Amino acid sequence: MSVSPALREKYEAVIGLEVHVQLATRTKIFCACPTGFGAQPNTNVCPVCLGMPGALPVLNKRVVEMAVQAATALNCTVREESIFARKNYFYPDLPKGYQISQYDKPVAEHGFIDIVLPSGDHKRIGVTRAHLEDDAGKSIHDGFRDSDKYTYVDLNRTGTPLIEIVSEPDLRSADEAYAYLTELKLLMQYCDVSTCDMEKGHLRCDANVSVRLRGAPQFGTKAEVKNLNSFRFLKQAIDYEIDRQIELIEGGGRVIQETRLYNPDSGETVSMRSKEAAHDYRYFPEPDLLPLRIGTAWMSEIRGGMPELHPVKRARFITDYGLREYDADVLIQTREMSAYFEEAARVGGDGRTAANWVMGDLAGALKADSKEITESPVSAARLGELIKLIGSGAISGKLAKDIFAKMWTSEDSPEAIMDREGLRQISDTSAIEKILDEVLAANPKQVEQYKGGKTAVAGFLVGQVMKASRGQANPGMVQEMLKAKLS
Ligand code: ADP
Ligand code: ZN
Ligand code: MG
Repeated sequence: MSVSPALREKYEAVIGLEVHVQLATRTKIFCACPTGFGAQPNTNVCPVCLGMPGALPVLNKRVVEMAVQAATALNCTVREESIFARKNYFYPDLPKGYQISQYDKPVAEHGFIDIVLPSGDHKRIGVTRAHLEDDAGKSIHDGFRDSDKYTYVDLNRTGTPLIEIVSEPDLRSADEAYAYLTELKLLMQYCDVSTCDMEKGHLRCDANVSVRLRGAPQFGTKAEVKNLNSFRFLKQAIDYEIDRQIELIEGGGRVIQETRLYNPDSGETVSMRSKEAAHDYRYFPEPDLLPLRIGTAWMSEIRGGMPELHPVKRARFITDYGLREYDADVLIQTREMSAYFEEAARVGGDGRTAANWVMGDLAGALKADSKEITESPVSAARLGELIKLIGSGAISGKLAKDIFAKMWTSEDSPEAIMDREGLRQISDTSAIEKILDEVLAANPKQVEQYKGGKTAVAGFLVGQVMKASRGQANPGMVQEMLKAKLS
């Protein structure tokens, strides 16, 4: 399904995202069970997360610290007092029979995220609220011998801490939603509250989508699309949903408020349940937990311990290291890469050269070996030493590439490799002059041409000197000396 550009132009899409982020604590939100991924099913459980009668929840302090950090990154106000609430519904993977969430007094509210649009323009997207809640378990519908008859339940995930971040309906296209989720993910990663690994379900997103005639004063009826477990699916599902609603309205129909499921195989969204029939959750304040109070002293202590966030880092890379905006954008794409870059720049004493190496040779070598930057055989400090050798004139950029390749397969320092392989750049005037004289003597025709005004032939002569020196002569010096000799 795809409507004409003219029809798309006639309507405006309105989108709000609800994003669940799994907080990277060691233990669960209301008990001491580990949160680790991949344990044997139903082994990371206890009476509290299993909802046994009489078992009482105790709030994990780390969760609160992370919530304050996340809220700060999202420019939210942290409530001095927030209240946990029971959200009641029945489902096999929810042993308590209710989720402990927050309702009318969430831990954080009134924030925003600044996004960069594909056009390069900036736009501010409101964050309505962020609230804490516990995760449910997992229903496993396939993979067992008798999966055609039974659904299995794994409760290891039950009680894992989540923060749900709800945006204002400020987004106007799939691209904007994509940019928003990208920014949100980076903020959560930089403030160190989540890995945001989508494949492991650490970042889950629902999209609320409606359309209205362009210029109309009111929003249209929205549909909520679930099961968007990749950035690509988020975009595809929103685009599909916009077209579906436009076609529906153009055909004289009406959008109904409902929950829809995205099917990545067909690329379509299908109705899951109508909103009218949606559960009445009967929220009420959780009687087993006290109100959560976060005093100003504790708040500023938590905020004081926050790492630098990527928007600040990006600006600093540009001013401190003279990087181009594009390079700064690339280098902050992961916290690991930005840290690697900074260490290499610090040791090497040259930010721009470090940026080129991290985005060029290093990225290429990592890709070829399918390695993450954290697994790089060449550490940031060792790359920094190589950069230092280039800066001092000991090696040329070209030789540095050869040395880098050898560093990849050994633990030796670049200096050791340089000396062992005899790759040190020749910057000694008399040594270069000797080679230069030999080259000039062997190429009288080119020398004549040069003297006759055809100075382009200098490139050839410099090339001959570089070749004769096995690439070790300092090319800048060769050029200078050649010019001096022939003029
Ligand atoms: P509900 O009561 O159905 O949960 P909310 O008002 O709480 O709806 O909003 C849930 C999400 O839907 C928020 O992210 C919000 O920005 C978004 N949203 C609300 N109204 C619309 C609309 N008309 N079109 C698109 N998104 C909307
Ligand atoms: Zn437990
Ligand atoms: Mg709501």
